[in-house]
Amino acid sequence: MTTLAVSRDRKPVLAESFNEHGWQALKDSYKIGDLLMPCCMTPAIPKTSPNFLQFFAHYSDGCASSPESQWHLATKEVLIKELLSLGVEPKFEEPGRSAKSAWKADIFFVVGERQIVIEVQYSYQHLRDYLRRQERYVQSGVSAYWLLYLPRYLTLSKSLMQHRIKTEFAGKLPKGTAQCIPQFPMACFELSDENGMVIGVKLKVTLKDWLNSLILNEFKYEAGTWIIA
Ligand SMILES: [Zn+2]
Repeated sequence: MTTLAVSRDRKPVLAESFNEHGWQALKDSYKIGDLLMPCCMTPAIPKTSPNFLQFFAHYSDGCASSPESQWHLATKEVLIKELLSLGVEPKFEEPGRSAKSAWKADIFFVVGERQIVIEVQYSYQHLRDYLRRQERYVQSGVSAYWLLYLPRYLTLSKSLMQHRIKTEFAGKLPKGTAQCIPQFPMACFELSDENGMVIGVKLKVTLKDWLNSLILNEFKYEAGTWIIA
């Protein structure tokens, strides 16, 4: 059961933000396709449970999304809710273009002059694909940050270290941390009942504090690692 839907212009719609009257008005006025399920972007319908909980359900029989996309969605859902509570207007699956190629961001929002993207990664991806996707955002003038599922974070950290040992450190193990690079802002995300924690080499903060550091432009690469400065 989800309390999050997405509007046609990819803005989040929270069921709990409606009072009883507003919810009934939505039920009376929506058209199929006005609201989409965040898991699979198919039409959503507003419903009320027997104990008066307001929620969204699939218009069609069910959801085609996998357990992988369930984690992905749950993470995006807490991101959206925390961002809304911090006063920014996040968008889902926002498309954009660089000079060379197109992208679609998991979460996109604007703070002043800065365009910010958060990518959430659950499934395996090769280091060069992470870097290529990041480069697209750089070319578009977008600041992109990555939140990785723990196994992905560990795999990517190892790949980055191996890559640097080969290309920068002439085959020798460097002193200090080597699993972070300045051109790839990343951290591990642990989803929990509360809202989740963002964890890095020298970082352990609530999701809200981490998002706030993005808004304030305080998530920085310093002394070999990504920290809140
Ligand atoms: Zn779905």
